[in-house]
Amino acid sequence: ASGVPAYRRVLLKLSGEALMGSDAYGINREVLMRVAAEIKTVVATGVQLAVVIGGGNIFRGIAPSAQGMDRASADYMGMLATVMNSLAMQDALEKLDVPVRVQSALRVDQVVEPYVRRRAIRHLEQGRVVIFAAGTGNPFFTTDTAATLRGMEIGADVVLKATKVDGVYDRDPVKHPDAKRFETISFDEVLEKRLGVMDAASIALCRDQKMHLRVFSIQKAGNLLRVCRGEDVGTLVK
Ligand code: UDP
Repeated sequence: ASGVPAYRRVLLKLSGEALMGSDAYGINREVLMRVAAEIKTVVATGVQLAVVIGGGNIFRGIAPSAQGMDRASADYMGMLATVMNSLAMQDALEKLDVPVRVQSALRVDQVVEPYVRRRAIRHLEQGRVVIFAAGTGNPFFTTDTAATLRGMEIGADVVLKATKVDGVYDRDPVKHPDAKRFETISFDEVLEKRLGVMDAASIALCRDQKMHLRVFSIQKAGNLLRVCRGEDVGTLVK
């Protein structure tokens, strides 16, 4: 493939755990800077990039103290964790001179902008990375659903799910070394076989709105750029 990007606008979902590296929890500085540098290379090709970051890396660390808590309250803690990750990524991108704004689904006005769809689109058109924090702003949802939702709202060409696994497998590849990776798979098959790609709500949303989803490993350097050039990395769900 040439240097021409395959997409005009993409929504990248980064799980919190993707920022953890091999640490037990929290943000690994080296990993954070590497992912930020990859985002920079993609933005340099002219792709408009929006990011949704999860919170698992922080939330897992405090999960024991959240046990026995009301589910909604625990979920709000999880959403606040994504705000922290978003601030860390904003800082990392700014260190690399990448223009960036954070918009939150929960109001934390002294810290970041509130989520305003048309304003987010304007930032993207201006070449700024937009990080959507606090998931959907609702308990009982996930940042995967937030990624799909925001992807549709901003008219993204594709949702890119960056994880630790390099695609969708027929079985858990960690437990089954002979597990087979799909190059493409349909949303119906993912739901039918209960493959752990994203939660069912976000898969159904993608299917109904005909939003393509690519699952790939962010741990392999250069993958994000390859994906944005249209290369067959990981698994395409459509
Ligand atoms: N969360 C929520 N609503 C949302 C997004 C997130 O309640 O719209 C909470 C939920 O508790 C979730 C946590 O925030 O477990 C962290 O998000 P997620 O687990 O999706 O992050 P990831 O696993 O991608 O790091």
